[in-house]
Amino acid sequence: MSPRKISLAHLPTPLEVLDRLAAELGGPRILVKRDDQTGLALGGNKARKLEYLVAEALDQDADTLVTTGGVQSNHARQTAAAAAKLGLDCQLILEAAVARADDAYVSSGNVLLERILGAEIHRLERGEPAQPAIDRLLDQLRARGRHPYFIPVGGSTPLGALGYVDAAREVTEQMDAAGIWADHVVVATGSAGTHAGILAGFALYPRPPRVQGIAVSATRAHKEDQVRRLLEPLASMLAIDIRMFEDRVHVDDRFVGPGYGEPTPEMVRAVRRLARTEGLLLDPVYTGKAMAGLIQLIEEGAFRAGETVLFWHTGGVPALFAYPAELVSES
Ligand SMILES: *Cc1c(COP(=O)(O)O)cnc(C)c1O
Repeated sequence: MSPRKISLAHLPTPLEVLDRLAAELGGPRILVKRDDQTGLALGGNKARKLEYLVAEALDQDADTLVTTGGVQSNHARQTAAAAAKLGLDCQLILEAAVARADDAYVSSGNVLLERILGAEIHRLERGEPAQPAIDRLLDQLRARGRHPYFIPVGGSTPLGALGYVDAAREVTEQMDAAGIWADHVVVATGSAGTHAGILAGFALYPRPPRVQGIAVSATRAHKEDQVRRLLEPLASMLAIDIRMFEDRVHVDDRFVGPGYGEPTPEMVRAVRRLARTEGLLLDPVYTGKAMAGLIQLIEEGAFRAGETVLFWHTGGVPALFAYPAELVSES
């Protein structure tokens, strides 16, 4: 029996074609799956995961959602919105994962939206580990008679990743209806639930696209391991043979730059390029780096003539407001 979910996202999200970018690059056809348009307080991939996670929270009679992430976490913002929509409290533990302390980074973008959404924010010092703070907060809430439901970073539990199993089905139906098929998918790999969910979801269909993750932190080995660790429970939930993924987990870590949330020149160029050729906004932490990866892969000849690549836009646009200096530094 598949777990229950509640409706939070605007679905299906649009599937569009990036004609002008493709013409400029002279490469494959490029589709974009617009999960920046999932709704739930300005969109993003966490909405699909939260549909399952919040259903479980409600089934457990939770009254408070607790989660954690970086200061400009999109997951924290969408969790705050989900909590508000369901009449739950929201407590956010924000890690200082990025060495930035300017006003825009600390207070604008996702942080501003979380405050408007009524979440309570707990900020950790740079280098302070999250787990003790999480345990402390959960204990305090329980001591006060509250029923917290904790959502791990990025909502990337096997349950949350089911949102992306569903998303693979959704885009399969859209492509079937349009008479097109993607040979490749390119997606940002963070806490890996999106990547793992998409891989598992497509495995239920004939001719699954090759899924190329672009790491936004850490190394290829670390990210591929994170994807594999989620694939195991997903495969058993979906009754798929885990061995089919043996040679299907691919992450490229060349676009991380100095680290998570640290801007790179290629990210800035990709964000501006998509804005100016397609009127499409990417984000500085995830999709800007993933698109920098897609552009370079096309330039390296990674795709054959006549192939189709689906770029999965996972959202994050509110974080643009946290990086104004880099994004407009030179025109
Ligand atoms: C969280 C996030 C990702 C990464 O998704 P994971 O499932 O954590 O790998 C990608 N893009 C955006 C905008 C995100 O907020």
